[in-house]
Amino acid sequence: MTCRQPQPGDLEAIELATRDEISALQLQRLQWTLTHSYNNVASFKQKCDSKGVHPSDLKTLTDLAKFPFTTKTDLRDNYPFGLFAVPREQVARVHASSGTTGKSIVVGYTLKDIDHWANLVARSIRAAGGRKGDMVHVAYGYGMFTGGLGAHYGAERLGCTVVPMSGGQTEKQVQQIVDFRPDIIMVTPSYSLVIAEEFERLGIAPQDISLKVGIFGAEPWGEGMRREIEAKLGIDAIDIYGLTEVMGPGVASECIESKDGPVIWEDHFYPEIIDPETGEVLPDGADGELVFTSLTKEAFPVVRYRTRDLTRLLPPTSRAFRRMGKITGRTDDMLIVRGVNMFPTQIEEQILRDKRLSGNYQVLLSRSSHLDDVEVRCEVQRELSGKLTRSEMDAIAKELQHHIKTNIGVSTQVNVMAFDSIPRTLTGKAKRVIDERPKLV
Ligand code: ADP
Repeated sequence: MTCRQPQPGDLEAIELATRDEISALQLQRLQWTLTHSYNNVASFKQKCDSKGVHPSDLKTLTDLAKFPFTTKTDLRDNYPFGLFAVPREQVARVHASSGTTGKSIVVGYTLKDIDHWANLVARSIRAAGGRKGDMVHVAYGYGMFTGGLGAHYGAERLGCTVVPMSGGQTEKQVQQIVDFRPDIIMVTPSYSLVIAEEFERLGIAPQDISLKVGIFGAEPWGEGMRREIEAKLGIDAIDIYGLTEVMGPGVASECIESKDGPVIWEDHFYPEIIDPETGEVLPDGADGELVFTSLTKEAFPVVRYRTRDLTRLLPPTSRAFRRMGKITGRTDDMLIVRGVNMFPTQIEEQILRDKRLSGNYQVLLSRSSHLDDVEVRCEVQRELSGKLTRSEMDAIAKELQHHIKTNIGVSTQVNVMAFDSIPRTLTGKAKRVIDERPKLV
């Protein structure tokens, strides 16, 4: 492992600012965001009016607690462009994330938003020890996901050579890393271990791998996994956090010199931790749901967006901004499978499309090697039970597997069983998800 700590002269002034300077900037930017949203997003104005608050009521940062939350449901109800705060013609790009049903959540960016995003990912890569001239292998998926393009623009902005590899094709990924000799890899932590295994298979030792730093996010991972990745690839493993609704990767990112949790880029995002039951704002250090208000976004400003991620706010260390702890869970039933977000209801939707299936199902998550395996168990209708041959049931399974892959983007193993094979609970409330993946350490 190498320590590629950035020098103070490499940092932006705001990364070293005082708390008062940061708060003053946040207040000014919050006032702008609230006014911009109120004037341009009809549903936000409506919510404020019915709560009896107006952007001019924000006199201090704590006044933000008076304003309404934004939830995933608000995003779904305004699908696709209803929450955009600028005319569609001024939106330079859209991205999407999975919603709880077939409809995804769509977000937009003006050129200025993309510029800020690139700067923040560049800042994140620099915090991870990256510098101008480095070669960055991007193995996050490209496309509607924010991962690939988000990482790509940031690496370019820092002055790096970008290899836009995207996900999958492990053998090719590794061959390219061997041939091109990149310094940095940006990928999900679980997939980095699959890459490490391929190096092992080729007999390439960690010290012979060119990579020095890995920037990992899009799914939860713990200190145990950090140690494993660092040992197997001979790199420093750094945590990057983000979500599509708020921007994409680079909302917060860890510093190589401390590796003590992602630093929230507080000049662009105002964080709060709330009690998920009551909505009450909790003090720094308390566990609760992370809520973000964007401070500079033009096309898709978010006010008090409830991320559903459970964590806590930590005091500043390597930078002037506060940090976040590891994500310890979620307040909803969203599953993250190989970096892809998925809701059980999305699987249910696909099952219900097939009239031969009963609608009773279970999703089993496990991890055989480094990647998550998903098994979907479902049943044929009562009247078909015992009447279909095994191969007819397998054909139904194959069809469903295909629909899930094309609609949700996740590979699964589908098992179609006889009616009544899946246990019903006494309460009648089905246990849809059985998660047997190892707990994070
Ligand atoms: P991304 O492409 O960053 O995964 P999505 O919008 O698809 O963006 O998913 C965002 C969600 O992914 C977050 O709300 C969080 O639950 C999870 N996530 C992203 N980064 C991390 C991380 N570093 N650690 C834990 N969870 C993460």
